[in-house]
This record gives sequence, C-alpha cells and structure tokens, in this order.
Amino acid sequence: MLEIHSLSKSYDKGKSFALKNVSFNLNEGDVCALVGESGSGKTTLVRLIAGLETPDAGNIVLNGEMFSSLHNFVPPEKRKVGLVFQEYALFPHMTLFKNVLYGISRQKNKKIRAQEVLDLVGLGEMKERYPHQLSGGQQQRVALARALAPNPSLLILDEPFSNLDAMLRAQLRNEIFEIVKKTGVTAIFVTHDTQDALAVADEILILQKGELIQKDEAANLYIKPNSIYVASLFGNTIHLSQELQSAFKCPLNPKCSHAIRHENFAINEECEHVTHARVIKRTFLGNKTQLLLKLDSGQNLAVFTKDGNVADRIKIGFNSTDVLEFNN
Ligand code: ADP
Ligand code: MG
Repeated sequence: MLEIHSLSKSYDKGKSFALKNVSFNLNEGDVCALVGESGSGKTTLVRLIAGLETPDAGNIVLNGEMFSSLHNFVPPEKRKVGLVFQEYALFPHMTLFKNVLYGISRQKNKKIRAQEVLDLVGLGEMKERYPHQLSGGQQQRVALARALAPNPSLLILDEPFSNLDAMLRAQLRNEIFEIVKKTGVTAIFVTHDTQDALAVADEILILQKGELIQKDEAANLYIKPNSIYVASLFGNTIHLSQELQSAFKCPLNPKCSHAIRHENFAINEECEHVTHARVIKRTFLGNKTQLLLKLDSGQNLAVFTKDGNVADRIKIGFNSTDVLEFNN
C-alpha cells in the first residue's frame, strides 16, 4: 500500500545526507515502528512521505499513486496522510471540537465526524474545553482525533509520547494503539524507544545514520539481529572479542563478529563455555543487579543478574546456541 523506492535526502546543498537510499513496503493495516537514534533520519523520512519535504532521489507510491518522483510531486494536503507530532500543535484559542473541525472544514457531515473521532479517543464529552484545560496525554489524543478525522490512508505519529513522563507514556501508548488498531488505519509510529516499538508494532524498521539497516517482525529482530548495533538496541549486549572467546574457551569464526546478550550469561550454572571470575562491584538496580566482574583471564565484564547475592568468586558461562553471529 505504501512503497518507498531508493529514497534519498540531503540538506545544506548535498553536504549532509539525512537519508540514503531507503526502500521498503507496507501493507494495508500494518502498524510499523520506525526506530533510530536522534538524528538518524526518522523525521526526514516521515516528512518526505507526508510531502513536507522533497526528495533528492527515489520515489514514494501510496495506494498506487505516485506521490513523489523527479517528475511528479503531490502536495501534502492531497496525500491523505495524517500526522501527529511530539508537540500537540493544537490551536490554543479553539475548543477541542473546533480544533478537530478545522481540518475537515470542507467535508460533508463534518460535525458528525468531529464528534465521532472525539468519542473514539474518549474525549467526546470534553469537546467544549480548550487545550490548556487538558493533560498532556489528553491533548495528544485530541491531536490523534484531528489526524484521523479526514480518514487518512496513512497515519504517521512522530515521537508522540516524548513529552510525557514514563507512567503516562506507557498508558497513552497502549490507549493510542488500541484506537489505531480499531480504525484499521495503516500507521507508522516513530520512536527512539525500542520498548515502545516492541509494545505496539507488527513490524520494526531500524534507521542508522540515514540508512535502513533492518526491517523485520519484532521477535525476529531480537532473535536474528543483522548487526551488533541492532542487537544492542534491544537489550544489553557484549561483543565477544578474541580475548573473551579465549577466556571462555569458545573459538568462533574469525570472519564474523559475535555478541552475547547479558541475560544469556549463566552464573554458577552448568553450561558449555565457562570461566571463573571475582565480583568487584555490585550495583542494585531494583529488579536486577549489575555485577562488575574481573575474569581470571584478566578482562573486566559487566553482567546483570536477578540475584545479586552471589559469593565473591563465581562461575560464569554461556551456551553456544546463545551466541549471535554477524557477517561484519
Ligand atoms: P531524527 O528524526 O531521527 O532525529 P532527523 O530526520 O530530524 O532525525 O535528522 C536527520 C539529520 O538531518 C540530522 O543530522 C539533522 O541534523 C539533519 N537535518 C534535519 N532537518 C534539517 C534541516 N531542515 N536542515 C538541515 N539539516 C537537517
Ligand atoms: Mg525526529
């Protein structure tokens, strides 16, 4: 339904590339997360899709219609792409009802539709309030109602929860995604938070320095990350250097690089590749404890464990099935 072909974009007359040769497709009704560090090109990509920027190269097709190519550019208002930003961007002098109505002023039955989408986000009874009379989470739900009102083919949410504190964030995230799923709209949810991405998305796209480095289902990204970078986005990961491989007596293919996740280290348990270590520091972190270890072979290694009450001398190891291997 959405096809992106070799999309590139630079700023400052080609000096800095924000997006390099990005291609992917989305199917109707997919909810995907676009994940990457700050500056990786997420906003640039969604602004290109929405028509707020023009690409240097590549093209964008939505529902078979060419939106952006070297010969063709459909303006944002004709694209049927709904946007929700980090800033709620509501008009402060208008009621919620008028805020939603604004975007559909030329539509038939606009008042019925405005009421419908406000009901959908659970704010129908507050429609005569002004934005400042709402919490941050409620304001973001109004922004969502406004984006959904014109029945967009594609909904884009760019870091919609970044202004909210952690508790509210998890709650709003779940509420918003129930609403999105209920409407069945195809959606791209931009976030730098992999927990948010895992919680809501069928598929996850990872951007690094403007390049799309992996696109996969959430579980596959965790099981089969294609780089140590992707692996470390989804949990603490240790690079198995040559020195660590010899410490654990676990020689691996020297043409590849390898990593292991913190949770796959076993302490004082039987496993294939074992060494001994001294605990030199314990940091209690609530649901887990970080142990800083000095291996008998001399290296330092930090691991997390549920039970920090281990003796100062421990046995630590892992099984070869838990080793992640990368061709780079
Ligand atoms: P993200 O949303 O992942 O944080 P952005 O798409 O905003 O990333 O930015 C990607 C890169 O492009 C960054 O290096 C940023 O500084 C640069 N950039 C973004 N917008 C502009 C702009 N209008 N002018 C110049 N550089 C920009
Ligand atoms: Mg951004």
